[in-house]
Amino acid sequence: ATPMSVMVGVGKAAEAGVLIRNGEALQTASKITTMVLDKTGTITEGAPKVTDIIVAGSQTEDEILLLVASLEAGSEHPLAMAIVESAADKGISPKKVTDFASLSGMGVEATLQNKKLLFGNEKLMKQQGIAIDKFVDKAQQLAAEAKTPMYFAVDAELAAVIAVADPIKSDSIEAIKRLQNNGIRVVMLTGDNRMTAHAVAGKVGITDFVAEVMPEDKAKKVAEYQANGEIVGMTGDGINDAPALAHANVGFAIGTGTDVAIESADITLMRGSLHGLADAIAVSKATLTNIK
Ligand code: ADP
Ligand code: MG
Repeated sequence: ATPMSVMVGVGKAAEAGVLIRNGEALQTASKITTMVLDKTGTITEGAPKVTDIIVAGSQTEDEILLLVASLEAGSEHPLAMAIVESAADKGISPKKVTDFASLSGMGVEATLQNKKLLFGNEKLMKQQGIAIDKFVDKAQQLAAEAKTPMYFAVDAELAAVIAVADPIKSDSIEAIKRLQNNGIRVVMLTGDNRMTAHAVAGKVGITDFVAEVMPEDKAKKVAEYQANGEIVGMTGDGINDAPALAHANVGFAIGTGTDVAIESADITLMRGSLHGLADAIAVSKATLTNIK
């Protein structure tokens, strides 16, 4: 395309709230054959809320929430925000923990009053050798409801399961349909567990999804599709999406997402809506047609 037609295209896209950082991305957008979508914060609002607290022992829900909120106070993960906010809503103030550590793609750990606190997914509990049998069925039931269940252990003993739900953005279903109607294969990629991923994918009409992806493996997945001859678009909002956004043929960042994601992407969807994807592709097609 001529520099002039690209400039016109960039302007047109901007009107739709789609910020294009480089002209080449605009020209590649219409050639995308596979669009990879992150789940949390991309398909969903990314603002999960606590829905269930199931206690194993004699503690109350509020006592559990105090411990988990104290543990999560040091994390910036959307799941941590849900816990901390839920505690705040109940007037529970977190206590100061020591030895806090964030275990990427799995959860968090810390020490409080000489007790070792551990909170996260099944992978984390398995890795730490904590028996979760008691709550596996319950967790699966919560996941089938598209909620994300997390396990809480105190001194290597299972103490509770807490579930959060993250609403799907109101226009994600329509926006995904537009991509599919363009003949694009849409794939969902998430660090969340397989059952929850299955439930969310089903709700938005996606049959192709990969769950329990470790942060460092998102870019590998993009490379894999590219090696199969696909032109890959990647859409994400998180720090853990940044390498995949940079690796994709066209990276799309959610404008309300992290700065790292925005800096790694070619195109920013200022309105946060996935409709920006089909809009960008339409502008791309028009730009290329104009020069022929
Ligand atoms: P994604 O943002 O795609 O869901 P992440 O790699 O950030 O992927 O998280 C994957 C999973 O790891 C989460 O679904 C959750 O089970 C667990 N996890 C990550 N961070 C935390 C945290 N701060 N608290 C509890 N669980 C967490
Ligand atoms: Mg995300």
